Amino acid sequence: MMKTICTILLLLISLVLHANHDVKVYYEKSDNGYIIYADNNEYCPVSIQLEFTVTNLRLHDQNNSVYVIQPHQKKQLVTQLTVIDKRKGYKLSYTSLTNYGDTTKDTYDQEYHYDLPFAKGASFQVDQGYNGTFSHYTKNALDFDMPIGSEVHAIRDGIVVKVVKQHNQNCGTKECKQYNNHIIIYHSDGTFAEYTHLKQNGATVAIGDSIRQGQLIGYSGNTGWSTGPHLHLEVFLQRMRKRETLQTKFKVNNGTKVLFLKEKGTYKK
Ligand SMILES: [Zn+2]
Repeated sequence: MMKTICTILLLLISLVLHANHDVKVYYEKSDNGYIIYADNNEYCPVSIQLEFTVTNLRLHDQNNSVYVIQPHQKKQLVTQLTVIDKRKGYKLSYTSLTNYGDTTKDTYDQEYHYDLPFAKGASFQVDQGYNGTFSHYTKNALDFDMPIGSEVHAIRDGIVVKVVKQHNQNCGTKECKQYNNHIIIYHSDGTFAEYTHLKQNGATVAIGDSIRQGQLIGYSGNTGWSTGPHLHLEVFLQRMRKRETLQTKFKVNNGTKVLFLKEKGTYKK
C-alpha cells in the first residue's frame, strides 16, 4: 500500500488592529484543522471581527464575522476551520479587529432616566448640544460649561472600562485628541458613557470599579481637543469602527422632570 506523503504548509499571521483592547486571539491545531480561541481581559464584552485568508481550509462561519467575547473569559471558542483535502497542504492567516462591547447590538433601554453629570444642587449650561455645529456635527454629544475642578458624577450605574488621566495639555485642533483625559463606563444595557476633558489626575475611579448612579467619579478640566473648560459627555453603542451616539433622557430639578437636554439650556440637578 502506498502511503501518501503530505506536505503541510503552514502560514500563520495574526495582525491585530485596535490593539488598545486587552484581548488575545489565538489558535490551536485540531485533528482536522484549527480552532480559534479568544481571551478577554476587559471588564465589558469585546467584539472581534476576523478576516481569514485560507488555502484548503473550510471556514465554519462566513468570513469577516463578528464574535462577542464576554468579560474575563479565558479560552472562549470563537470559530473553527477544517482541512478540505488532507492530502494537500493548507494555509491560514487572519487579521482581527477588536472593539469594546457587543458591536452587533442595536437595542438598548431608551426609557432610562440618566442623572446630570454633576453634583446634586449644582446647575450648568449645555454650551453645545446634540449635533451641535461647533464640533458635534452628526454626533449626539453634550458639552457642559463646567469650570476646571468641578465635580463630575456618574450619570448611570456601570463598570469602569477605561481611564486616561495623565495629560495636561489642550488645543483647538484634532491633533490634541490624543490628550483627552477621559473615563468610559459600561452600562447594563450594553451602552457606554464617556466623560471627557477631565483635569490631569482628575479621575477618582479605576478600571474595574463598579459605579453607582450619582457617584463622584472625577473632576472636569480642559485637556485634549478643547478650546475652554467643559465636560464633554456622550452615551453610545459601540460599532466595529465607529460609535453610534445616542440621545438620552435626563432627570432635572431634583428628579421632578425628565427631558432631553437642549443647547443653551441651563439644568439643575
Ligand atoms: Zn464636545
